[in-house]
Order: sequence, then structure tokens, then C-alpha cells
Amino acid sequence: MTVYLDCNASTPPDPRVLETMWRCYALEHGNAGSPHEFGRRAKEAANLARELVGALAGARRHEVVFTSGATESNNLALLGLAEHGQTTGRRHIVSTQIEHKSVLEPLELLRQRGFEITLLPPNAGGRVSAGDIVAALRDDTLLASVQDVNNETGVSQPISEIAEALADKNILLHVDAAQGFGKTGAILHHQAIDLISISGHKIYGPQGIGALIVRRRNSQLPPLAPLMTGGGQEFGLRPGTLPVALAVGLGKAAELAGLEANTRAEKCRAFRKHLWESLQEFRPTIHGDPNFTAPHAINLSFPNVDSEQAIEALAGLLAVSNGSACTSVCATASHVLAAMGVAAAELDGALRFSWMHDTPTPDWEAVCGVLRECQAASNASSR
Ligand code: PMP
Repeated sequence: MTVYLDCNASTPPDPRVLETMWRCYALEHGNAGSPHEFGRRAKEAANLARELVGALAGARRHEVVFTSGATESNNLALLGLAEHGQTTGRRHIVSTQIEHKSVLEPLELLRQRGFEITLLPPNAGGRVSAGDIVAALRDDTLLASVQDVNNETGVSQPISEIAEALADKNILLHVDAAQGFGKTGAILHHQAIDLISISGHKIYGPQGIGALIVRRRNSQLPPLAPLMTGGGQEFGLRPGTLPVALAVGLGKAAELAGLEANTRAEKCRAFRKHLWESLQEFRPTIHGDPNFTAPHAINLSFPNVDSEQAIEALAGLLAVSNGSACTSVCATASHVLAAMGVAAAELDGALRFSWMHDTPTPDWEAVCGVLRECQAASNASSR
């Protein structure tokens, strides 16, 4: 049996989430915008889901805007502020070189539209510093956008320190929390975090749903404009009929994450320890400071092992990836590891292992055998 170790790309849905969604699909086919009892029930179900999602970030239900996933949330958070930045003359944004492409590409669009974007590098351990963020701020800075946990290395960023530093400033803070939401405790509760992007399929919920949490500060909403026009749903920020069963699934996944975060993290830490001990003979290099790495991921290079060759050779035993799933579609080297200063030889060998609390134990001895063969083939071809 192939053990799935690509949970940072997508987690399997929790059976309890599927059960909740199935019931919703079967019983609640109404449109949440309709005025009759079917519509009312759909709206109530969606609002309960909003509450459950918001609770994990210390937000109220009317601050939760459902989207199709974190990519859309990131686009809405960043491009949605463009008009405000242009009309107020605040056209400077601070972010980091290790953001997901769904942050970096909207930022590039903003740059083409006259914004100045400062992208800060991480240290060699894959972490940015709150001090560097503060030092980069200017009088015309509109926004800082920083992810909470990196999808390729699992390294968590100093979100609390950044939020603390921005709390008394008139600068918006957006956190791409696709990887950390439901896993990093109360960090996202900080009231100076104005915008939070989340994704259902990273927390054992369904694919195709996420949210942008749009938090009021001093009873003021961030000055976002919608990216699409239509029926005015989702507080006017995201038009289109709400997929109620997906929202309900996300709500259930958030509820379970809140209840089970500690036990899940403990199980993930045990898996990590076992993985690390099992692979010691190869003396792998870890990409990402282990002191700040989330319990469910590790990024490793093995001497003389090419990642693509290893992914193929491990088929049937492990499903792992190199870089992010989106990056591997584009077949480019990891911009995250490159920004960390990882040498070219190691870049080609980097493998991302990411798991969950229920991941079964792989046959590590067989995995080691495959990696030994990869090394032997590589040594033979370089002779
Ligand atoms: N940001 C990060 C950090 C991610 O890991 C991902 C998913 N790989 C996304 C954004 C995009 O999320 P979604 O798949 O929900 O669009």
C-alpha cells in the first residue's frame, strides 16, 4: 500500500466531514439567498459553518467570507485592496520571498499597476524576521502580507510578533494561513491581523472551499473591493451561489480541528520522530529550522539522490513531492528553497514529506532500500 505523505498539498477529508456534507447535500438543497424555508435552512447551516470557522481565528461569523480556497482568498485580500491603495496614494506593500504563488503573483500584478512591493528574504532556516518587516515599513505602506506556515518547509513565521509590531500602526496585515489554520493554536486570534486566508482541503475538509476572514478593527472593515460582480453574496465581497454543503464541510473540519488540535499535533510529532530516526543512515539535510517547523512536515535532501528519480522509485511505497504541488505542475525549482540559499545540488534533491495524525507507518526499511538503490544508480552514472 502506498502511504500518502503529501498532506501539505491536500489532506484526505475526515469521514465525519463527509458524513456532515452528505446529510447537507441530501436534505438542504435550498439556495442560501432564497426567502423561503429551504433558503432559510441553508442560510442557517452556512452561518453555523461561518461561526465554526471564525472561532478558530477569534472572528465573528459576519467576518467570514467563503471563497473557493486560499488561492482566491489571497487574490481577494491583495487585489481587493488595489483601488483603496490607488485612491489614498498608499502603494507600498511588504511581503516575503517565500510566499505561495497565489500571493506572489497577485503582488506582481499590483507591481505592474504602480505599487511598490518589498519582498523580504528569509534566513537560512526559512524564517523571516518581524524586525525586518518593521524596518521595511514606510509612510505609504498599505499592507504587510506574511504566511503563517510555509507549505514547502513547514517553517512557521513570527506572526504574533509581526501582529504585535503592527497593532498600533495604520497598516493592514494579511496572513496566508492555508497551512497553519486549525493547527497553530490561538496565533490567528490577534486582533491586528485584518485578513486571513484559509483552505478547506488542508484541514481534512473538502476541496473547492476556503474563506477570507475580514476582521473589523475599531469597528472598521478593511477597505476591500470585490474581484467579481454579481449577486452581492458574501457581504458583497464574493458573488455567486454559496455551495452550502462545502461550507458546512469546512465548518465541521474547523470544529474538529479546534477540538483535536493537540492530539493531532502529538501524533504528528511521533510520526516525525520515527521518520527522522528511520532515515538517519543517509544523513539527510533538513531544509527549514527544526525549532520552528510544524509537526506535520519536513523537507529533506539526501546526498546523491535526485528528487524526481526518488519520487518515481518510491512509487508503491510513499507518495511524496518536491516543492509545492503547484510548483511541480510548473516544473520550476523551488523559489522557497532558493530564497533560503539552498545550494543548487541540494535543490534538485529536496523532497517534501507531509503527513497527518492518521497516517499509517510506512515500511521505512523498504523506503531505505529504494533510496540506497537511487544513490547507487547515481554514483554509478557519475563514475
Ligand atoms: N497558500 C499556501 C501557503 C498553500 O500551501 C496553498 C495550497 N498549496 C495555497 C495558498 C492555495 O490554497 P488552495 O489550494 O486552497 O487554493
